[in-house]
Amino acid sequence: MKALVYTQAEQLRLQELPEPELEDQEVVLRIEAVGICGSDLHAWRGHDPRRKPGLVLGHEFVGVVERSAHARIPRGKRYTGNPLITCGVCEYCVQGRNNLCSHRTMVGMTRPGAFAEYMSIPATSLIDIPQDMSAASAALTEPAATAWHALALTQRALVRPLQECRVLVIGGGAIGMLAALLLRHAGARALVVAELHAQRREAVARHVACETLDPLAEAVAESGFDAVIDAVGAKATRHQALSAVKPGGVVMHVGLQDWASEIDMRRLTLSEITLLGTYTYTTADLRATVDALHAGAFGDLGWVQERELAQGQQAFVDLSQGRCAAAKILLRP
Ligand SMILES: [Zn+2]
Ligand SMILES: [Zn+2]
Repeated sequence: MKALVYTQAEQLRLQELPEPELEDQEVVLRIEAVGICGSDLHAWRGHDPRRKPGLVLGHEFVGVVERSAHARIPRGKRYTGNPLITCGVCEYCVQGRNNLCSHRTMVGMTRPGAFAEYMSIPATSLIDIPQDMSAASAALTEPAATAWHALALTQRALVRPLQECRVLVIGGGAIGMLAALLLRHAGARALVVAELHAQRREAVARHVACETLDPLAEAVAESGFDAVIDAVGAKATRHQALSAVKPGGVVMHVGLQDWASEIDMRRLTLSEITLLGTYTYTTADLRATVDALHAGAFGDLGWVQERELAQGQQAFVDLSQGRCAAAKILLRP
């Protein structure tokens, strides 16, 4: 089969690899579409010690069951999946918070990913989709579920309903875009997206139909928002998030570009700000997100671009150099 292999920093090569073996309780999927994630880009730059050269990346997939070693999973059915392979029995798994599983591993990290014609995955990791769902929409489930989970945690921490809240989203990449689309759908009272890249600001304005701003050119209102979603997670955006949130408000930290920075604990304490972290999604979030995507809660997805798997290297280069207005590129094997 053809697979896009991460061979060295900033290098993906289309190679001929053997098709995956069918393991006990697993299925082999023929991949229809797979998204390029910020974490794939991070690995490609050589910045992720867990994703080593020789690996097939990619964990935002939709595919058709080609071979099945599980009684309830038929050949020919289409699925997306949870790329986090979880144990099912630890404290977190039994609470339904399997994103925090103590023994989790991951597709496209600890086992081969979906930038290939075929990929194997445990049957228990599959997520049902309506069989007529478009491949592009289904492949967006994983990043959309990340936004879904982050907003669910945010809403739990807010004192008033979202319909009464002014929300700032920092970052117009895929997660920022998906969060903004969901916030608009959920009826946030006011919504502003801050993004440096002019083409991405235009895409947000067009597809989310909300206010946008360039944080380098315009000041973000201090104490102006009930909730701030930081979908970048850099030192500068964390600082901006804490300054933009109103007293008593919520800062949701989703992106993780920089690992460390000073936090103004005085403001956090005296203004009773809730600072939250979020990691991926639970299986329940993925299922809910499939329904929401299928019902059109995330809009028309016209901002998503599709390319051939063979053009993968160029897609990574374009995303890395900010030459691409699309916040998400899907590859088609
Ligand atoms: Zn991802
Ligand atoms: Zn577990």
